[in-house]
Amino acid sequence: MATARTVIIRKHGGPEEFEIETREVGDPGPGEIRIRHEVAGLNFIDAYQRSGLYPMEMPHAMGMEGAGIVEAVGEGVTHLKAGDRAAYAAMPPGAYADARVMPAAQVCPLPEGIAFETAAAMMLKGLTAEYLFCRTTPIKAGDTVLFHAAAGGVGLIACQWAKSEGIRLIGTAGTDEKCALAVESGADACINYRNEDFVARVRELTDGKGVDVVMDGVGKDTFDGSLDCLKPLGMMISFGNASGPVPPLNIATLAAKGSLKVTRPTLFTHIGDPDTCQAMARHLFDKVLAGDVTLRIDQRYPLDQIAEAHRAMEARETTGSTVITL
Ligand code: NDP
Repeated sequence: MATARTVIIRKHGGPEEFEIETREVGDPGPGEIRIRHEVAGLNFIDAYQRSGLYPMEMPHAMGMEGAGIVEAVGEGVTHLKAGDRAAYAAMPPGAYADARVMPAAQVCPLPEGIAFETAAAMMLKGLTAEYLFCRTTPIKAGDTVLFHAAAGGVGLIACQWAKSEGIRLIGTAGTDEKCALAVESGADACINYRNEDFVARVRELTDGKGVDVVMDGVGKDTFDGSLDCLKPLGMMISFGNASGPVPPLNIATLAAKGSLKVTRPTLFTHIGDPDTCQAMARHLFDKVLAGDVTLRIDQRYPLDQIAEAHRAMEARETTGSTVITL
């Protein structure tokens, strides 16, 4: 029987809770595959699951994104076969591992032109960009979007996605270097929100009008300011909580600030339907193969340095994507 190093936690807490155990990896059951990972991806959601912000049953494997070779497929799996290159963003967690058995529905055949490392750096983040720009609210060329943490994993993909569609993206980021990176990646402007009032600057950059859409993965620290950046009838997409969860919202605020709309989407609702998941992945792959989106991998860690990878991510030291090499 095959074995795999697998990162697990036995209780919620800091990066010190990670353990690596060697597990036996069995054969896939109906609707499942066994995949041997070449590379896994790191995402901020992994920190929420580890800390307990998003509670999980214990003990639990970790990691939501990976790429590798399909070793075996279970009964009923028709879109993949043994030997295929494949990549995924999927529940349940378990990607920080040499190999695993998992549900096949969200695993996507990976085109030859996309490297494993690129795939592992982009499945969760790139599918998120796909649904933010294409499935959440109508956004057309010429519209203006405010995107927080624009030099992060989802952020650098979003900058390029917006540019390729003629959408004006104003970013925010925590250092001048990160701002420069966002602009290099296609942001029209980027505000260092650690030393500048981003609401006032967005008003200036939009001639006082505000933006059509805000995409806010930072949460607690930016939510209220984000609402103040919107035009009347604008759309607030609150999709993450890197700075902490957003406090309860008084719905009357939305009327007072100009009939605003708010949504709180998750990738996993969108990819819950297998056909939609595969279509979103093909769209993402097309964007990458066309050269519209290039993945920037600024951090690489071996599996046994997973704790350090989480520490750096939560300390805001990372830019672009981070991968776990196996
Ligand atoms: P990032 O690489 O963007 O890392 C998070 C960034 O948030 C940091 O680098 C930092 O950038 C910024 N940040 C601001 N305040 C804090 C803080 N107090 N602590 C830590 N970071 C802070 O992560 P991802 O690309 O993986 O994800 C981006 C966001 O999108 C996350 O909130 C994530 O949960 C969310 N997400 C949501 C999905 C969904 O479907 N709902 C799917 C995928 C991601 P800076 O220093 O520039 O401020």
